[in-house]
Amino acid sequence: MHLILLGPPGTGKGTQAKLIAEKLNAAHIATGDLFREAVRQGTELGKQVGAYMERGELVPDELTIATLLERMRQPDAREGAIFDGFPRTLQQARALDEALAGHGMAADLALLIDAPDDEIVRRLSGRWLCPACGRIFHEVSQPPKQEQLCDGCGGELMQRDDDKPEVVRKRLEQQRPPEELLAHYRKQGKLVEIDGAQEVEAVTRDLLAAIEKTTVVS
Ligand code: ADP
Ligand code: ZN
Repeated sequence: MHLILLGPPGTGKGTQAKLIAEKLNAAHIATGDLFREAVRQGTELGKQVGAYMERGELVPDELTIATLLERMRQPDAREGAIFDGFPRTLQQARALDEALAGHGMAADLALLIDAPDDEIVRRLSGRWLCPACGRIFHEVSQPPKQEQLCDGCGGELMQRDDDKPEVVRKRLEQQRPPEELLAHYRKQGKLVEIDGAQEVEAVTRDLLAAIEKTTVVS
């Protein structure tokens, strides 16, 4: 199964993608994670993408598509994948269509998890993460037991630069899925909208219901 999760940052898309990937035994492919890892490791790719990310801009399509295709060639992605943060442009969507078609496959669904701007800014500016183990906390919905410290490993929590309010607003403007991308999947009859302003559990429930419906039909 190949599922695409679309939506602005801050709707819990990443959390949902991981949950669903586990449930369906599919690879979780997040271009943002791949880029952050490359930056952390100081690879050639990391050097190329770091500046775009810091500015809250999209990484150019060519580089993004090459990164995605390489990830798709990993063995764990053979059976299926949940795409999280990809595609973000029409050109990326076409490249994914082609890559899947090359294996006689196609994306099953494009799930759009959306929420109003103000709600997203409120959520994102409260996000803290543990650089040591990757755990994510939230001031409001998931505070750590001890302020500023990770429940899992005791590491000191940090706020990503791109989770600061002014960067969040800019990111939202630029990273809401463009209408032509939504239209692409709507035309294919694959776009399903999910209310991302709900509780995490409710979003998961809606996502799984939409996925189950497709599995039964096809
Ligand atoms: P966010 O942190 O906004 O939820 P991600 O973690 O998906 O988003 O991505 C972090 C950054 O990586 C983005 O701001 C962008 O610079 C870059 N990036 C990730 N995925 C893509 C993509 N599909 N196309 C272009 N740039 C991307
Ligand atoms: Zn930790």
